[in-house]
Amino acid sequence: MRVIRHKKELHELLGLLRSKGDKIGFVPTMGTFHEGHLSLLRCCRKENNISVVSIFVNPTQFNDKNDFKNYPRDLNKDLQVIEPENPDFVFCPETDEMYPEPDKRVFDFGKLGNVMEGEFRPGHFNGVAQIVTKLFDIVMPNNAYFGEKDFQQLAIITFMVRSLNLPINIVSCPIIRETDGLAMSSRNQLLNPEERKSAALIFQTLSKAVNLQKQHKINELINWVFEQIDSNPLLKVEYFKIVDSIELQPVNNWEAQCNKVGCIAVKAGKIRLIDNIRFNS
Ligand code: AMP
Repeated sequence: MRVIRHKKELHELLGLLRSKGDKIGFVPTMGTFHEGHLSLLRCCRKENNISVVSIFVNPTQFNDKNDFKNYPRDLNKDLQVIEPENPDFVFCPETDEMYPEPDKRVFDFGKLGNVMEGEFRPGHFNGVAQIVTKLFDIVMPNNAYFGEKDFQQLAIITFMVRSLNLPINIVSCPIIRETDGLAMSSRNQLLNPEERKSAALIFQTLSKAVNLQKQHKINELINWVFEQIDSNPLLKVEYFKIVDSIELQPVNNWEAQCNKVGCIAVKAGKIRLIDNIRFNS
């Protein structure tokens, strides 16, 4: 495992390996590793000769200054956690390395960008696209790995790669959960013990909703999910939508011919958590 801080060095090393025919896989992250991150890397290692993990808490994707300030960071611990997983390169640049100049680029994600996270976190996906395109330029991976936990991010990056004609295969990886069902997230460690316990209700409710789908209209089920989660005084649903899995537009009835996914954002105290679940007809 080689730790690299400068983009030029990484770009040149990977260029040499690419010219020898190596296949490069890439896992972008913001660090504070958990099993979700490690599952992406394991998948990456299986499918590529060279695996690159990046650790960078990207300022431009935080629409809330406090969220950026409080986001957990522990590079030394991350390096210890990741070493046994044997990535070839860990890229952990400083902010100036990635943003020597302010990035003024504005991306258009069409319909995908205006719903859910796009509505509640204005500018978030533009920041994600800024950093992901910069990282893709440096690493030029054959395959890049993203978690379904961030379902809308995955849809947007898939769209962006297609619309920019980038020769990169986007690989989606399933959500890894804690034993009580809570989706693993770096933000979970910011929850106090009561909030952490309550947060299990999010996935429990989503799972029950999937089982109840035959008995309720979509709107009724959406209201039911709000009621269940909001009945816990420590939780507050920001949105819950059942959308088609490609364009992420709301689905009004179960008969609609598309794959449906229920996407949720919940505030547990000050911490914002997201999750999603498939509704298969
Ligand atoms: P982050 O460090 O939160 O930016 O996440 C880096 C990558 O890990 C993203 O592609 C996430 O979707 C993915 N990821 C985060 N949490 C999980 C999880 N619980 N299961 C699977 N992938 C995840």
